[in-house]
Amino acid sequence: MYFGFSLLQTDRSSHARLGQITTPHGQIATPAFAPVGTQATVKALDPRDLHELGAELILSNTYHLYLRPGADVVAELGGLHRFMGWDGPILTDSGGFQVFSLAGRRTSGDEGVLFRSHIDGSQHLFTPELVMRVQEELGADIIMCLDECAEPHDRAYNEQALARTHAWAARCLAAHSRADQALFGIVQGGIWADLRQQSAETLTALDFPGYAIGGLSVGESKAEMHAMLEVTAPLLPADKPRYLMGVGAPEDLVEGVARGIDLFDCVLPTRLARNAALFTRQGRINLRNARFERDPAPAEAGCGCYTCRHFSLAYLHHLFKAQELLGYRLATIHNVHLLVELMREIRGAIAEGRFAAMKEEFLAGYRVIPEERRGLGSSKEGR
Ligand SMILES: [Zn+2]
Repeated sequence: MYFGFSLLQTDRSSHARLGQITTPHGQIATPAFAPVGTQATVKALDPRDLHELGAELILSNTYHLYLRPGADVVAELGGLHRFMGWDGPILTDSGGFQVFSLAGRRTSGDEGVLFRSHIDGSQHLFTPELVMRVQEELGADIIMCLDECAEPHDRAYNEQALARTHAWAARCLAAHSRADQALFGIVQGGIWADLRQQSAETLTALDFPGYAIGGLSVGESKAEMHAMLEVTAPLLPADKPRYLMGVGAPEDLVEGVARGIDLFDCVLPTRLARNAALFTRQGRINLRNARFERDPAPAEAGCGCYTCRHFSLAYLHHLFKAQELLGYRLATIHNVHLLVELMREIRGAIAEGRFAAMKEEFLAGYRVIPEERRGLGSSKEGR
């Protein structure tokens, strides 16, 4: 068996689950957060860093790798694991999210999505069959169906996109041939409970080895996202992993786990780091702030990451002011560490039957900044 999911424990006070995913490249303890390596690299980190940080799964983007260097190039060089020097589990998305984010540069029909490359304007057609072939060439452990991510509040568009997403899921299943890759279906339906329900029922009937919930964190409110998770997660089979795509703010991880989510990915920790923003247990700080100019303290007292063990806020502040490359790297290490560590704490809390208290304590101390929307139409650089 190449792929498996074991549900080890379910929390009594919430829908939180403790589990383990098995892949041909190793195990993933869930709930887990996957850092994003858009172009076959988690920006500013190397695979050794990722292993040291305890990341057990990384995500890479089919859209970007298809355009550059090309899936055939990656295949010729031994597949994505060998190409990027990462021997752990990899998940590739279908490219659908990026393509549908290319506002004004794509048109979708029942056959697939026609789009223009953000690199050179060349025209391409993503069909379910092509997206399966590309992901098979890349060779990730977990791959995704092509789906249509609609503006969440547009009912008519969501109905149309859902019909297409379901038809494409069946075509992906038919086209998928590599037994060593697990193909996940993606539930869509915007902020509409009945559409989410319809989507979950249609896709579970196709019997995928795992299910993603897509089309969230794209412009809807947190309350709407939570409501959709509450509708969708219980309709998905308990013995299959559930993956919430593109969500990675610390408070969203805690809330998602409470609603039964096992996997998350997001560019947030790495993207924020490159903008001098660090997560802390109290909320977010910006290293460019003048108050850090002479601050000898680490970014977060008690943090066990390499950055906090060795460097002061004053030094990090200086690196960003001087635009030194090391600043991006040290900030990224801290942010990824915080999310991976948060997931480890969550797993420990579920195992010991104290997840509700841990969640309450974390959220009480964490000041939320209410934006972080991926925003369809604004992210051609990838999630
Ligand atoms: Zn740290």
